Amino acid sequence: MAATTPNHTVTVSGWAAHDSSGKISPYTFKRRKNGVNDVTIKILYCGICHTDLHYAKNEWGITMYPVVPGHEIVGVVTEAGSDVKGFKEGDRVGIGCMAASCLDCEHCETGQENYCEKMEFVYNGIFWDGSITYGGYSQLIVADHRFVVHVPESLPMDAAAPLLCAGITVFSPLKDHDLVATGGKKIGVVGLGGLGHLAVKFGKAFGHHVTVISTSPSKEEEAKQRLGADDFIISTNPEQLAKAKRSLDFILDTVSAEHPLLSILELLKVKGTLFLVGAPDKPLQLPSFPLIMGKRSVKGGIIGGIKETQEMLDVCAKYNITSDIELITADRINEAIERVAKNDVRYRFVIDIAAASKE
Ligand SMILES: [Zn+2]
Ligand SMILES: [Zn+2]
Repeated sequence: MAATTPNHTVTVSGWAAHDSSGKISPYTFKRRKNGVNDVTIKILYCGICHTDLHYAKNEWGITMYPVVPGHEIVGVVTEAGSDVKGFKEGDRVGIGCMAASCLDCEHCETGQENYCEKMEFVYNGIFWDGSITYGGYSQLIVADHRFVVHVPESLPMDAAAPLLCAGITVFSPLKDHDLVATGGKKIGVVGLGGLGHLAVKFGKAFGHHVTVISTSPSKEEEAKQRLGADDFIISTNPEQLAKAKRSLDFILDTVSAEHPLLSILELLKVKGTLFLVGAPDKPLQLPSFPLIMGKRSVKGGIIGGIKETQEMLDVCAKYNITSDIELITADRINEAIERVAKNDVRYRFVIDIAAASKE
């Protein structure tokens, strides 16, 4: 595999990690020339997802250095290839985690490219031409238009960026369980971070009763007062857990650290579903009793398909949902990454790439 191919003629300024220290520094590299199916996008903002840290520091052992992270990308189209449909110069667009898929397996044909076996990520992936993909910590990206979505006019670009990963990650399971079209259910959200705070916003917008389950008592006021959650359970408080047993229809677990599932499963009604979107390093213990005694299920999922991502953004425009963000300049990426590692962010850092382009 090659980092570039001869058609990589576009020089791009960005930011990359070069080794497992994970330290991000300015990096100039080449992208492919805009092809017939491509759009070239001037990047305005890019969110910092926890996954970026894992890759920057090679925590999963699969990083190809130098890595240009970033998969919550928004910007403006500056060029569209001759076969591109639905996008033109000047369009406000977004790119999430995917750069490519096979385009003709059962998953691709049903709008679930995210489950295609040949799906390639927008960074640290291998594109169709054999080149390594570089992500959104950069001023420009060339993307196949089938992996690009429109950002509705009413959404602010900076606060919309995190929707491309965090947003779709929590929207897709809600949609899968008929919790978007119809309200009135009792939903739990475990963990109040980048994913969790968006799950609360979606749950309330769709008319559900939302309970936040967290280890941090300090987050109760924020969850209820500002995000509109109906209830708050401290996950280490046996009395609160006992009181809420068998009360929830669906629980979305966004926690990526090791944590016990027993007490969470017991919060579910009979036939309730626990849906995991966090990715702890070590396997979680799955207790069988709460499953068999309550006919409960445990599932998991990763992001969503392209059509579904567009639907999510349109729903966000309808309900005026965006991420709460801390906007930073590119020279503060390392500081931001250290704070993300400590979960010290409300609720997503977004890099102001446009500001760097003006320098
Ligand atoms: Zn992400
Ligand atoms: Zn496929």
